[in-house]
Amino acid sequence: MQTVIKVSPTTFDKMADYYGNSGKMPTGASFHQKKAGVTITGYPKSHKVMFQGQRSTSEAAKWSPDAATQSDPAGLPAGFASWSVLGSDEVGVGSYFGPLTVAAVYVAREKIQEVTAMGVKDSKTLSDPEIIKLAHRVMKLCPYHIVNLDPATYNDRIRRYNQAQLKALCHNFALSKVLTKIAPTKPQGILIDQFEPANTYFRHLQGQKQIIKQNVFFRVKGEQAHVAVAAASVVARYYSLTRMDALSQQAGLTLPIGAGHVVDEVAAKLLRRGLNLADFAKLHFANTKKATQLARLKDH
Ligand code: MG
Repeated sequence: MQTVIKVSPTTFDKMADYYGNSGKMPTGASFHQKKAGVTITGYPKSHKVMFQGQRSTSEAAKWSPDAATQSDPAGLPAGFASWSVLGSDEVGVGSYFGPLTVAAVYVAREKIQEVTAMGVKDSKTLSDPEIIKLAHRVMKLCPYHIVNLDPATYNDRIRRYNQAQLKALCHNFALSKVLTKIAPTKPQGILIDQFEPANTYFRHLQGQKQIIKQNVFFRVKGEQAHVAVAAASVVARYYSLTRMDALSQQAGLTLPIGAGHVVDEVAAKLLRRGLNLADFAKLHFANTKKATQLARLKDH
């Protein structure tokens, strides 16, 4: 765990006095100290101070609760959880039936407590009724945008893009929509629930008219780093649920989530009823072939 903060020259001098020196001085540093499991190193040229160790974030926050902070790819700036953050997450990637849904939600710092108190957390740990209830409250309280690709659209796009690329495009679009909604307010940070390395994500966006890049952070299990990502996961799942219901209605049977054998059986049933799988399912999954075989078997 590592956190780097940039401070004013005055603060830098104060920090140098406060921490003092011990051990071997790293190159370019003017102070270096180990304190309660955190190693603190000050670099006078850039006025950057690096904190390393388990408690690096909280130690750094003593000096820079709000200032422009930087951190290594594995970490986030000090105090990030209490920042005004635009978060995004997606649902439906691994499910054969149903849409790919991405949501972006802006949670201003003064709303963080309320959203957290509602019980917003990773949507995977919540029941469907809880998701629906929470999503409505989030959408009332916070600016958001949903990008939903129903199977028909998804199947069309997946001919041109791979799935990760498609996800990147949807995240970027959802983020840009919320930024427009909240302008001239700007979030202190943007947090994407990470599904690929940052450089791959930006490569996937090459050629796009608008690429949201400024203050963008990535984090696996982003919902644990800021409630905005948890809120986005709740809103995305809510919308996905409503689309699954509508598609189930249209199909005349309940469409299961996931990509297991039950899914093959249901898809075979749709085929035997003469329905077009492209309207209900992500055709590039291996389930399409299995379902087609099953449907043929049962014809005889
Ligand atoms: Mg995710």
